[in-house]
Amino acid sequence: MTEKQIVVLGAGYAGLSAATRAGRRHRVTLIAPETRFLHRVRQHETAAGHPEHRPTLAEVTRGRGVRHVRARATGLDPAARKVFLDTGEAVAYDTLVYALGSRTAWHAVPGAERHAYPAERAAELGERLRTADRPGTVAVVGGGATGIELATEIAEAHPGWRVRIVAAGQVGGWFSARGRGHVRAVMARLGIEVHERSTVTEVDTGGLHTSGGRIPADVVVWAAAMEPHPLAAEAGLTVDPAGRALVDDHLRSVSHPEVYIIGDAAAVTVPGTGTLRMGCATALPMGGYVGKVLTGRTDKPFAFRYNLQCLSLGRRDALVQLIHGDDSMRPSILTGRTGRLIKAAIVNGVIWSLR
Ligand SMILES: Cc1cc2nc3c(=O)[nH]c(=O)nc-3n(C[C@H](O)[C@H](O)[C@H](O)COP(=O)(O)OP(=O)(O)OC[C@H]3O[C@@H](n4cnc5c(N)ncnc54)[C@H](O)[C@@H]3O)c2cc1C
Repeated sequence: MTEKQIVVLGAGYAGLSAATRAGRRHRVTLIAPETRFLHRVRQHETAAGHPEHRPTLAEVTRGRGVRHVRARATGLDPAARKVFLDTGEAVAYDTLVYALGSRTAWHAVPGAERHAYPAERAAELGERLRTADRPGTVAVVGGGATGIELATEIAEAHPGWRVRIVAAGQVGGWFSARGRGHVRAVMARLGIEVHERSTVTEVDTGGLHTSGGRIPADVVVWAAAMEPHPLAAEAGLTVDPAGRALVDDHLRSVSHPEVYIIGDAAAVTVPGTGTLRMGCATALPMGGYVGKVLTGRTDKPFAFRYNLQCLSLGRRDALVQLIHGDDSMRPSILTGRTGRLIKAAIVNGVIWSLR
């Protein structure tokens, strides 16, 4: 163990995997408000009322030199190398690993934040659906992976509810033709109403106003987009127009090289692969890489290639889309039980790979 002060901000896929690895050789301070691992890729399951599978941070970091400070960072002073916490404490660092992730983006749509549930409130949403006097209508806004997973999971778990998915473009439009076809077939089987090319302009107690007309809903779920945590931009780290921090080929801030930025918070461009999308699939390897750098096990630039995208479509089906290393689509897909088993193995394997 060395006395170098390594502070990791955020205990998601990126932060936790960096902390457990760095904690093999250093004393690491891990700052995050939760005591249980925030397993975001399972939040759609929680929203549908399925039990949560989340180990405690203490279980994941056991045997490593990691001290968890249960707090929220409220400020960062890179010149003084200090993080300020909502407990009133200030924590000094030599090296900071910034992994504050992302959160639901509301895009200033009137009424959205007030009337819609984001994935972050999955448990509350699950309770609302479970305890309602009678089934009604749920509108899921967003035709991306999160929106599709939420809509299919809710429709399967609550067959009495009428589920609608509303997208500004095409639902799952980036998948191969076979991938899109499978998503569409599962939605038809689950009775999900699909509203495409409908931009939501307002949300109220009765549902959605969209460019394609009114869509009534008793419950609205918002999964239209994610945005990075704003602390990096507020602290003066160089960020891109979307607010993701720009990093060099070792994932260090281009403006503050003593700060590593990983996960959804970072705008990472890998030669031959392109700019990485936000995802557990990219956050985990970034965390693992920084952990290795901090323990002297590599000094090579960060490398990353994609191989597949997976999506759960309820508990009984899934889509595994084979892709090229640069995230472009191959024609092949795996679905049904095979897809489901692959997706389940990946999601279960995440906890193991955090260490
Ligand atoms: C329903 C759903 C399904 C998804 N499915 C997939 C999928 O199948 N595949 C995939 O690749 N991606 C998926 N994603 C996206 C994936 O979850 C995110 O890209 C991923 O969580 C990013 O990891 P991260 O470590 O960067 O940040 P996060 O997981 O967002 O973790 C951020 C950490 O920072 C902490 N934090 C936040 N604010 C503060 C603060 N002020 N102070 C201290 N700590 C703070 C949080 O508590 C948390 O510990 C899904 C997302 C959702 C919502």
